[in-house]
Amino acid sequence: MSPDCLFCGIVEGSIPSQTIDSDERTVAFMDINPATPGHALVVPRAHSADLLEIAAEDLEATTVAAQRLAVRMKDVLDADGINVLNACGAAAWQTVFHFHLHVIPRFEDDPLKLPWIPRGGDEEEIAAIADKLRT
Ligand code: 5GP
Ligand code: ZN
Repeated sequence: MSPDCLFCGIVEGSIPSQTIDSDERTVAFMDINPATPGHALVVPRAHSADLLEIAAEDLEATTVAAQRLAVRMKDVLDADGINVLNACGAAAWQTVFHFHLHVIPRFEDDPLKLPWIPRGGDEEEIAAIADKLRT
């Protein structure tokens, strides 16, 4: 529990939410600004700021809970597809600094767009960055 953390407050129950699922390590609830009808968030109960900080066990549990929710969205909401999204860092659109996965049901006619334009990259640059990233 981190004081002043919105999602810790939701996990604890001091901040109201439309909770839809929970287990030993995770809680899932509806996003108040849904990208599509059904947009939900899955968080670990234990506070960690982001993807770089979260413990492997909590990441695993949160991912499995997101999968469970995705299956339910297909069944109950008749979703045509699902996006699972994480924002890590303000530069990557993160606004709440308690790790969370967005689980967004997608519908053939929904208005969401891919946030980048796929176009051929520079092969040398791709290879140079791959060299840097290889461990
Ligand atoms: P981020 O921008 O960090 O990836 O995602 C934070 C998400 O939390 C946003 O989609 C935002 O709509 C949602 N959110 C912000 N405040 C609240 C709140 O008080 N309750 C709920 N349920 N969701 C919230
Ligand atoms: Zn927190």
